[in-house]
This record gives sequence, structure tokens and C-alpha cells, in this order.
Amino acid sequence: MPSSFRCYLVTKNAANEVSASAAQRPMSDLPAGDVLIRVAYSSLNYKDALAAKGHPGVVRAFPHVPGIDAAGTVEESRAAAFRPGQQVLVTGYELGSGAWGGFAEYVRVPERWVVPLPNGLSLRESMIYGTAGFTAALSLDALLRHGITPGDGEIVVTGASGGVGSIAVALLAKAGFQVAAVSGKPAAEEFLRSLGAASVLPRSDVQDNSNKPLLGARWAGAVDTVGGNTLATLLRATRRGGCVTACGLVGGAELSLTVYPFILRGVTLAGIDSAECPMPKRLELWKHLASNWKPPTLETIARETVALEGLPEQIERILRGETMGRVLVSLGDG
Ligand code: NDP
Repeated sequence: MPSSFRCYLVTKNAANEVSASAAQRPMSDLPAGDVLIRVAYSSLNYKDALAAKGHPGVVRAFPHVPGIDAAGTVEESRAAAFRPGQQVLVTGYELGSGAWGGFAEYVRVPERWVVPLPNGLSLRESMIYGTAGFTAALSLDALLRHGITPGDGEIVVTGASGGVGSIAVALLAKAGFQVAAVSGKPAAEEFLRSLGAASVLPRSDVQDNSNKPLLGARWAGAVDTVGGNTLATLLRATRRGGCVTACGLVGGAELSLTVYPFILRGVTLAGIDSAECPMPKRLELWKHLASNWKPPTLETIARETVALEGLPEQIERILRGETMGRVLVSLGDG
């Protein structure tokens, strides 16, 4: 066991200026916990970029290590359910927000956060999914539990070239749905079609600024990662009995609409919270992601793999909405 480990450390100085860079810290800086994991891969999510900027909604205390995802090998365990050498993954809970996260060679976490790596997934593949893929899986699960089938019509995915969006497109296409991918990046069309999108639409197709309480009923369902006016537009344009999942807010946190989509069309708004998803559902969905839901295009969704030193550039890109697919963070021995 080394006496120190490398991590991406976010600090705040006396003038309240936040900065971040790769750093070496003693192992004793890791928080208390049941399971010490030698991290092989993490991944970059939008929330990690906010953490790297010291966003008060994500970071509770400084110095901080971002990274809401980690996959690696158990190094030490006080929990009977986990043994040294076992491959595991952690996504969400307090990882990378209240607790130091996966942009580090080691994380120490409570037993209840740890998922055994399911058969059929490598550590690298599990982090191509990461929180983004798990959130896409929760969204697909919500649509399926709602009873939506491929015969019901098109499913629209917004923020489609991003992490959650691109994996949602791939999972829905694999499940046989006709997917309309909404993207602000004309250059993403080929990528999205390669993941299985039947059509690629500009963002303006899902941004309505009229005050109409209902729009033409177009979608059987939707996976929305954008929020704001986009989510309000989708809810007003969803067919009778349809379901819209909401996980994100890159386009705004407000939601302005009437109750008419709900009371005249029976539309359901399904909220997605990946961080606190209960363990039984977590295990069930990771098993799907490792087997019957695993898209043949998974590897192509990993567009970049960076070391800690490559993070600043990728963080700026994801904050500008420029990222396509997923950015993996390699901690060295994966
Ligand atoms: P990414 O940055 O990878 O993807 C977001 C995508 O949204 C962008 O690539 C872009 O896609 C689109 N976009 C960006 N800015 C705007 C804008 N102003 N208006 C419309 N579209 C925009 O982020 P993630 O996929 O990691 O996360 C997406 C959202 O989901 C975030 O808000 C994140 O916080 C949230 N999230 C929530 C989770 C939960 O459990 N509730 C879990 C994971 C993520 P394009 O150019 O193709 O339109």
C-alpha cells in the first residue's frame, strides 16, 4: 500500500478563488469507510464539472476531489460482502460531492454504496456507462414500467449527443424503439445515427415559446436531459398516456406549464434520481446493462480517455455543452 495517492484536487484560497489540478495526497486524507478501492477508471459527468468549479450545490467542503463514478479493485475491506481483489463499481450517493470521489487512485466508501462488477462488463465498460449510463437505464426502465412499447410510436431523447443522451439513444434503439435524437450539434448526426437514432432533430424542434397549453401530440415518450422550456415543450407534445422522464437541467431548472398535459392526455412526468437509487434496483439495472441491454455500440460512446492532467480541458468542454458521448478518466492500471 503506498503512503500517498494521486488525485484531482479542488481548492479554495483565502480570496475565495477556486482552482483545481492533479495533486499527491497522503492516504490518511481519505475519508473513513468500509471498503478501500484502487480505482482503475472514473468518468466525467456534468456534475463533476460543476464540482471542479467549486459549485456550492455539489461541493460541501474544500479541498475536494470530484468524480461521482469509480470502478476498480477492492484493496481493503471491513465488510464481509467484499474481499480484496474483487472488482467493484460505485456511482452516486455522496461520492464526488459530500465525499471525495473517483478522480483519484483510491476511494474509501461505505459498504452500502458498492456494487460488485456484474458478469459481462469490464471495469472500463462500467465507466463508459458510469452515472450517465445508469441514469439512461433508469429512464428506459421508467418508460418500460409505464408500459410503453416500440409499437406505441417515437421516443425523443434530448441532449442526445451528451453522456446520458447518447447512452439513452443506444439503449432505446437496442430495445427496439424508434428514437428521435435532438441535438444542438449538426456534427453529431453521424454519431447519433450510428447509435441507432432513426432521426436527428435540431433543438428548435422541442422548444416552443407559444403559450399554448397543449401542442400537437407527437411523442409516445421522452427522455429529457435538458429541463426548462425543452421539458415543458415535450410534456405538451406527448401523446395520450405517454411518459416523459426528467433527469437534467442543462437548459434550465424552471418548469413553466399548465396541468393540461396531465389531466387531458394522462401524460406522466417521471423524475429520475440516480444518486440515491435503492440498491435492489441498482443491482437489477446493472445486470441489464451488462447483458440484454448492452448495446453493440458501447465502446464507440467512449470518445475520449484522459489521465488526471487531461481533465481541465474536458471540464471546460462539458461546461460549454461540447462533449459528445463519454469521457473516461483512466487512473493507470485498468
Ligand atoms: P453532458 O454535458 O454530457 O450532456 C448534456 C447535453 O445537453 C449536451 O451535450 C448538449 O447536447 C445538450 N445541451 C447542453 N446545453 C444545452 C442547452 N443550453 N440547451 C439545450 N441542450 C443543451 O451532460 P450529462 O449527459 O452528464 O448530463 C445531462 C444532464 O443530466 C445534466 O443536467 C446532469 O446534471 C443531469 N444528470 C442527472 C442525473 C440524475 O440522476 N438526475 C444523473 C446524471 C446526469 P446536444 O448538443 O446534443 O444538444
